[in-house]
Amino acid sequence: MRARPWLIALYFTMHLALDAVSYVQPVLKLGITPLSPQTGLVLAFLYAYRGNFWWVAAAFLASEIVIRGIPMHFWILPLQVISITAVYQCAAWLLRKKVPIVDVATLSGTLKFIAVASVTAIIAGTASVGLYTLASLVPADQFASVLARFWVGDLNGILLLTPLLLRFADTPLLLRAIATRPAAFAGVLLGLLAAFTLVFLVGNPGDLRFFYLFFVPAISAALIWGIPGFLLAALALQISLVVGVQRLSEVAPLVDLQFLMSTLLVTGFALGAVVTERENSARLALQREKQLRDSEANLARASRAATTGELASTLAHELNQPMTALVSYLRASEIMMADGSRNDARLAPTLRKAADEALRASDILRRLRNFYAGRDPQLESLELPPVVEKLVEALRRSERVGVESIVLHIDRDLPTVRADRVFIEVILSNLIANALDATAGRPDPVIEIAVRRSEKAVHVFVDDNGGGVSERVRSDLFKAFVTSKSDGLGVGLAVSRSLAEACGGELRLAETSLGGAKFEFVLPIDSERRESP
Ligand code: ADP
Repeated sequence: MRARPWLIALYFTMHLALDAVSYVQPVLKLGITPLSPQTGLVLAFLYAYRGNFWWVAAAFLASEIVIRGIPMHFWILPLQVISITAVYQCAAWLLRKKVPIVDVATLSGTLKFIAVASVTAIIAGTASVGLYTLASLVPADQFASVLARFWVGDLNGILLLTPLLLRFADTPLLLRAIATRPAAFAGVLLGLLAAFTLVFLVGNPGDLRFFYLFFVPAISAALIWGIPGFLLAALALQISLVVGVQRLSEVAPLVDLQFLMSTLLVTGFALGAVVTERENSARLALQREKQLRDSEANLARASRAATTGELASTLAHELNQPMTALVSYLRASEIMMADGSRNDARLAPTLRKAADEALRASDILRRLRNFYAGRDPQLESLELPPVVEKLVEALRRSERVGVESIVLHIDRDLPTVRADRVFIEVILSNLIANALDATAGRPDPVIEIAVRRSEKAVHVFVDDNGGGVSERVRSDLFKAFVTSKSDGLGVGLAVSRSLAEACGGELRLAETSLGGAKFEFVLPIDSERRESP
């Protein structure tokens, strides 16, 4: 992306301004200073906006002309400007390809960035100082020392400004971080001021022994706020170095300080990266956790929505039986009362049965509603045999066709189970209703209900000698709306299984002994009761 004209103008101005303010202690006629913050700007600009080679070269040239007053041979200047721009263009390309600036938030990304910055500075320095030496502007014996000065200036410029400019978007985050720790911020600021006072204002002018004091606030900032905090502290430090050195221009060689500064930059950068990386991974972990919680909640909502649909059909299915019985009892009562003169002795028990069925219907409704509303089933310690017997008895009373074929086998001394009474009734009624459907029309229908115990559970088997489960539905037997009956809803087994599971039990198809279909309903033994004497 090419930069817009106003951005180019801004870049140009900043380039010249940075070069001007850092034009401190130049050596030789070339004006090589130990600080070149503009290199950080150049790299950031070329990284963010491709295809601006000539603008950057022009800025370098303008800066040489304006600030140094064309101190070189006229042919050296364009060569030097073009070569140094080419080096930065390559560095920007390399960073874009291999070390995107966002990676500077990790330790490995930061170390790679430092490596790219060092190599860029050394190549740019060698190219420039080499040209000066060729043109005899730098004495050959001073090549190494001039190169070192060039290198450290460019390196510090890149390390400090490139990430700061490119990650400027992070600044609001940093400001918020600072606001949350005002005391730490005040401490870092005070530390910088104290170090500045000691290094530049008191003691022997230019006494560099105290420079290490700058490490304390700068490293603290890295440890507290990671890379962005460190960069801001380092920027404040770099500005104070320039200001301080200008005060003591004769005695304090800025180049020495710049080497100390680059050591500090590398150390603080690496430390800051460790802190930033840790913070980011903690934030990521939190985000993941939240996402996980959200998706779990979505899943729960989705399954609740799915079961709401199931609920409507289930209710129709479950209520069918008590409602039919209720209607027939009421019809019978009506007939008994039709002749007002006769007080039929059967009337009272019939009405009581009707009331029982109505109660059962409302109980089913209430429990099912509670279950689907997500409330826990009402688990209680239960003796299974009476529940099974009562249910079969009620079925017999309803005089449904085929109920006479039901045979019960119940083990003695069965332990109690922990379950919801109505859930069990619903499951068993479903299994028996299916068995009755399967054996209807057979000359010798048999439905065997057995209640057996194993080590940890009580098993209820419902076996029949009907036609068996058809292959068409077998694989999806326990899924909702799977039915082979023309008037079936296909929800009985699906709901029964979820009710069994809600009690901590299981419902599955077993191996039939009667030749039809056998279902096994397993309930765990009530462990509290079992362990108590
Ligand atoms: P529905 O009874 O409304 O069809 P269910 O979920 O109770 O719904 O049963 C699903 C299907 O499973 C039935 O349509 C039937 O094909 C099969 N099935 C269930 N119980 C038996 C059984 N005892 N014998 C044969 N097939 C059965």
